[in-house]
Parts: sequence; C-alpha cells; structure tokens
Amino acid sequence: MAYFVAMKDTTSPDPALSPERQVRPAMLRGWRRKCPSCGAGPLMRSYLKVRGSCAVCGQELHHHRADDGPAYLTILIVGHLMAPLLLWASVSLQPDPLILAVSFSVGCVALSLFLLPRLKGAIVGLQWAKRMHGFADASLSAPAE
Ligand SMILES: [Zn+2]
Repeated sequence: MAYFVAMKDTTSPDPALSPERQVRPAMLRGWRRKCPSCGAGPLMRSYLKVRGSCAVCGQELHHHRADDGPAYLTILIVGHLMAPLLLWASVSLQPDPLILAVSFSVGCVALSLFLLPRLKGAIVGLQWAKRMHGFADASLSAPAE
C-alpha cells in the first residue's frame, strides 16, 4: 500500500505551473462577448473584431483563430431551427407566400446577426481555455486599446 502512495505521477503537468482553465465559464464569458480570462473586459472592439488584449486584465486575445467556425455554427443552428419551422408554417398556417418569404428572410438574418458574434466569442473562449493557437504561453500584457 505504501508503495502506491509513494509513487508520483510525472506525466501530468505541475498544476502550479499550468493552472487549469475551465472550459464552460470561458465559453459563457465569450458568449457574453467578455474576456474569457476575467469576464469583465470587452472581447470585441467592433461587431466581429476581437481586441488585441483585454483592457481590464491584459490577457492577450490576438492568438485566437476562430476563422470560419462561428459562421459554420451560425448556419448550422439557423438552418436547423428555421427549416422545420418553415415547413411547419407553410403546411399548417398556409400564409401568403410573399409574407412567408419576407418573414423568414428577416428572421434568418436577425437570428444570424444575433448568433454570429456570440458564437465567435464562445469559440475564442474555448480556444483560450484549451490553450490553443498561442494561448498556451499567452502572457498578461499591459492593458491596451
Ligand atoms: Zn480580461
């Protein structure tokens, strides 16, 4: 029994050197378009532009590589919500086709514009929590912007 207690796991990193980053809170902070590290500073400097670093805690944010991920997820979610809804509305309600087309076009655009920056923030939060793309050794720089 004492043999097992004395064994030390040398494969896992020292938690003091690399503190665990929680994925869920980081993604929720990103969804709210806040810094995934502190949750206080704004993540975006415009609709979809991510700040170079957090204005509150100084966390470098330019390491993110969200690329097409937010757009892909937006299309995936909006399509899976609107396609069955369009089928249901056209079969059950049988509205005028022009009204149906206009209402669903406006709905798709509005939902896409709502989801896109939030999903981008969530992906940046995920990348920060998983230490991807330079977030691994990202240091705290002086607050900028
Ligand atoms: Zn911050």
